[in-house]
Amino acid sequence: MSDCIFDKIVAGQIPSDIVYQDDAVMAFKDINPKAPTHILIIPKKHIVSISHLTREDLPLMGHMMEAAKKVAAHQGLQAYKLVINTGADAGQVVMHLHMHLLGGKKLETPV
Ligand code: 5GP
Repeated sequence: MSDCIFDKIVAGQIPSDIVYQDDAVMAFKDINPKAPTHILIIPKKHIVSISHLTREDLPLMGHMMEAAKKVAAHQGLQAYKLVINTGADAGQVVMHLHMHLLGGKKLETPV
């Protein structure tokens, strides 16, 4: 059995507040929100990070972006930020690729 916390969320072994899912992706509320809306969008397939993507994963990334657009619209967000931390030094703590969808307040631009 996987030790990955997000694999366990996908498998239903750890509860989460799911806002969207389909055959390939899942979106659920972040347990420690950094904005009024803070949702994590993940592939159901275990991929460690952007650095671990293969060419065959590229449609899945497009699918994740489309899911982010749907979730943002469903949450009533007109402005939002999508963030993918990649690698520990960039702040990635959970080693399962995930996209943060942040919104609901004025957000600072990191770069
Ligand atoms: P990272 O720093 O890896 O980019 O972001 C990981 C995110 O996962 C953090 O914002 C953290 O709050 C969230 N997180 C960690 N464990 C859990 C969990 O068990 N459930 C949920 N819903 N979010 C989690």
